[in-house]
Amino acid sequence: MANNTDPRVAVLCGGVGGSRFVRALSYILPHDNITAIINTGDDEEFHGLYVSPDPDIVTYALGGVIDDERGWGIRGDAFRWLEQIRRYGHDTWFNIGDRDLATHLHRTRLRAEGWTATRIMADIAAAFDVHVRLLPMSDDRVRTIVETDAGDLPFQRYLVERHAQDAVHSVRFEGASDARPAPGVIDAIAAADVIFIAPSNPIASIGTILAVPGIRDAIEARRAQCVALSPIIGGRSLQPPAGEMMSGLGLSVDVVGVAEVYAGLISGIVIDRADELHASTLATRRIGVLVADTVMHDEAASRNLAHKALTFVRG
Ligand code: GDP
Ligand code: CA
Repeated sequence: MANNTDPRVAVLCGGVGGSRFVRALSYILPHDNITAIINTGDDEEFHGLYVSPDPDIVTYALGGVIDDERGWGIRGDAFRWLEQIRRYGHDTWFNIGDRDLATHLHRTRLRAEGWTATRIMADIAAAFDVHVRLLPMSDDRVRTIVETDAGDLPFQRYLVERHAQDAVHSVRFEGASDARPAPGVIDAIAAADVIFIAPSNPIASIGTILAVPGIRDAIEARRAQCVALSPIIGGRSLQPPAGEMMSGLGLSVDVVGVAEVYAGLISGIVIDRADELHASTLATRRIGVLVADTVMHDEAASRNLAHKALTFVRG
């Protein structure tokens, strides 16, 4: 039950790290107090299907069906349709499970009928009985393109097909300058008591969201209430490609590099115990620091982190 002391929270997030933190908040707050603003720059078309990886990861995590080992896809899913389509000579580098396929068929059909990303996301969330408010960053198409030694690669090709092996020179967000924040995004940021930047890829998940005109300004205006969680732990990301991308862009792959990306946007950062040594450097930059156990390996660890992060922002 909502209680009038429960804060309203807005979270900017990507897929794996983002979904874990949104789920962590959902363990301790009324679900309708939480709005997740999700990266859609990784969206891609495969076999005529419109796939929206980060929104699906967040929905599956909150819906209790995520494959927690992999961090994406539906637990126990099979890949038989993919084996079949390989016989016909089609690309199968992007892993879509059999049950997951239904989500993409459904989304593709609704898009063809003119539904917006916002409406589709709400529809899919409802099918999983998810009551956290899930918003795409924009209803307009934005594509994260990674400029590498091997050429310009859409994000999924860079990460999944080529395993983040190519040296990164820069990243661009195609379509971002003409994109508008999805309905509700700016209002959710303005109305939140607390804003979190989830422990997501600072470049390819959060950077994409911030590239949508209006969102960065809205966060800047709420800087005092905005705290980031570091996805970099002990000098590395738990899975590619946040570290690879940060290093390609000349950032140090540590919590100081993360804080640099978020300069002007946050008043505090949550770092792992493994990174405690960096706390004094961050303090000289007038950023509040909370040192905590930040790996959300189970429900207890997730609850604990969500609770500490909330207490940290609220003072
Ligand atoms: P993607 O869209 O699937 O790449 O996922 P995100 O952008 O949301 O998050 C990717 C980042 O999540 C990686 O850099 C990981 O290090 C980080 N991450 C994953 N799980 C955890 C966790 O339990 N704690 C923290 N602090 N970071 C995590
Ligand atoms: Ca992603």
